[in-house]
Amino acid sequence: LVSRKEHTEDTVVKVGGEEVGNGHNMMIAGPCSVESEEQVREVAKSLKRMGVPFLRGGAFKPRTSPYDFQGLGEKGLKILRKVADEFGLKIVSEIVSPEHVSFATDYVDVIQIGARNMQNFELLKRVGTVSTPVLLKRGMSATIEEFMFAAEYIVSQGNRQVMLCERGIRTYEKATRNTLDISAVPILKQETHLPVIVDITHSTGRRDILLPIAKSALAAGADGIMVEVHPEPAVALSDAKQQINIPQFEQLTQALYDSGLLH
Ligand code: PEP
Ligand code: MN
Repeated sequence: LVSRKEHTEDTVVKVGGEEVGNGHNMMIAGPCSVESEEQVREVAKSLKRMGVPFLRGGAFKPRTSPYDFQGLGEKGLKILRKVADEFGLKIVSEIVSPEHVSFATDYVDVIQIGARNMQNFELLKRVGTVSTPVLLKRGMSATIEEFMFAAEYIVSQGNRQVMLCERGIRTYEKATRNTLDISAVPILKQETHLPVIVDITHSTGRRDILLPIAKSALAAGADGIMVEVHPEPAVALSDAKQQINIPQFEQLTQALYDSGLLH
């Protein structure tokens, strides 16, 4: 069902009044984790200023260590909803458990399935039964074929509003947190009819190469990019090393508008 052979026309994912995959590239930005209402509001204000319609923020965090901040849970989703409504933004937030899907749809506009859950088949099947759009991230060790089958799990349950997100894969290279598989972008665009987003933050894990990476993703045919933004990255409760601050985010976004790749 996700194959171009089955469906030649591009799928346009509709999120309220926003569209993804209609030829106008978009951006998803926001903190790694929802930490407080004030934190989310500061970022949301900047998104509004820059014309970025999608606010991200994790409320359920799949952390490597069980002793690290696990997220605010439902309280975090409430904060996102409240602030997003103040600014007319759409929310993208990760859900990690099939049991949380039904209440999550009350709060979020797009359900994110994280890299660590790309092959959590019960979760995939569950999000396939709702009508809320889904952003499916590629597993860190998943092949493109496995990634496409994961999307098939969702679509085969009835939910066709799926976006694919390349977020880097594990290789021996240590200069970046993950290795951005840029070839995956045109391959996924060719093999599937679903919108493709590139997460420039988790794929690189570094702030100094975000602009060229964002440009290359959009030039390769991505329908949008995702970036992590925090008012004060140094004190962030997760991913403190890779998030950019608000002036850096505004500079990046402006440079992409100026390049004509984001519009
Ligand atoms: C995220 O986007 O919040 C995240 C945890 O990323 P990933 O699942 O790609 O590691
Ligand atoms: Mn993160």
